[in-house]
Amino acid sequence: MDVGIVGAGIIGCAIADDLSRRGYRVEVFDARRVGGGATQATAGVLAPFIEAPSAGTLQKLAVESLGMYDGFVAKAQSASEWEIEYRRCGTFEVATSVEAEERLRAVADAARNAQLTAQWHALEPGARQTRGTAAGGLLIAEQGYVRVEQLLVALRRAAERRGTVFHEEQPILKTFTKRDHVVIETSTGALSCGVVVIAAGSWSDVVGPEQPGIRPVRGQLLRLRWKGEALPHVMWSQDCYVVPWLDRTVLVGATVEEVGFDDRNTAKGVGQLIDAVQRLLPDAAEATFIEARAGLRPASDSGLPVIRPSSNSTRVIYATGHFRNGVLLAPLTARLVRGMVGAVS
Ligand SMILES: Cc1cc2nc3c(=O)[nH]c(=O)nc-3n(C[C@H](O)[C@H](O)[C@H](O)COP(=O)(O)OP(=O)(O)OC[C@H]3O[C@@H](n4cnc5c(N)ncnc54)[C@H](O)[C@@H]3O)c2cc1C
Repeated sequence: MDVGIVGAGIIGCAIADDLSRRGYRVEVFDARRVGGGATQATAGVLAPFIEAPSAGTLQKLAVESLGMYDGFVAKAQSASEWEIEYRRCGTFEVATSVEAEERLRAVADAARNAQLTAQWHALEPGARQTRGTAAGGLLIAEQGYVRVEQLLVALRRAAERRGTVFHEEQPILKTFTKRDHVVIETSTGALSCGVVVIAAGSWSDVVGPEQPGIRPVRGQLLRLRWKGEALPHVMWSQDCYVVPWLDRTVLVGATVEEVGFDDRNTAKGVGQLIDAVQRLLPDAAEATFIEARAGLRPASDSGLPVIRPSSNSTRVIYATGHFRNGVLLAPLTARLVRGMVGAVS
């Protein structure tokens, strides 16, 4: 094995796909199943100018990664022969106050500077003015969403076709470096590889030779069957967002809760989302409930992802701390990690 990857979430899978395409022999280990961490709860929204509206490093990374997405999805789809629902259908962010309208008009300028199509619009049909005097929102045409469970299957199949092995329910107990290789300890024995990538999300502090300072932030999300007029865009307000899938179901997200490693849904979290979506879109009252999910977003103190070699060894590479943007940042993360792996192997 050239590269061992700890964690088979969206980050670990994107890295496995990328490295296997370059001919590396890769094995991926997950304590749960593939995508069983934060990734199973994700909404898959691809929206740099919602998640990183202020100029800075996160915005730069997010814009660059969004620019890679068409190729990322097309390659995964063709290598795996697995269909992925991926739509740059636009995001519509509702202004619920005069202050919000001013803020969004500034965001529109920044998005235009990044060559995106950002336009101020009257409220979408079905959306209502919830507060204040503002009656519009910002439509950014090139933002959108991907169905992450489909993307994950495609990345996994593509990597497996090139010989990558995925080990599920195989927790890594620890990793440590010996002169020219890294030892990975599992409950059944030790394995050796040239490079280890730690993509263990919220659990990344536990596995590697150092603690990069990652903490879990719970997010709860609903899936509903939509009965109202079809939504043309991802809808976003300050209290919730709605992602319209082609099968007429919608995702409604998401809470942001500092509750440690508790990844269960709560009545309060589900209740908050149900209230918020009805305030944003009155048609939501008729939607029927399918399921609630919860996941632990991996957050760093700086708010930026941690994508770098360990300070102890260049053979151990961290790819974690993606917080609210792991799906959006996956292609760029894979490219950055590829460069670091190439530098030591
Ligand atoms: C409700 C919600 C909505 C979200 N919406 C969006 C969105 O719209 N757009 C977006 O870009 N991002 C979104 N995110 C964030 C995104 O889901 C995360 O940033 C992303 O899933 C992180 O991926 P990851 O692979 O780093 O972590 P994870 O998916 O958590 O994967 C880490 C994996 O490591 C495994 N692991 C842990 N310890 C060990 C060990 N010792 N040995 C082996 N394996 C181990 C875990 O089992 C897990 O499968 C959302 C998150 C939530 C919770």
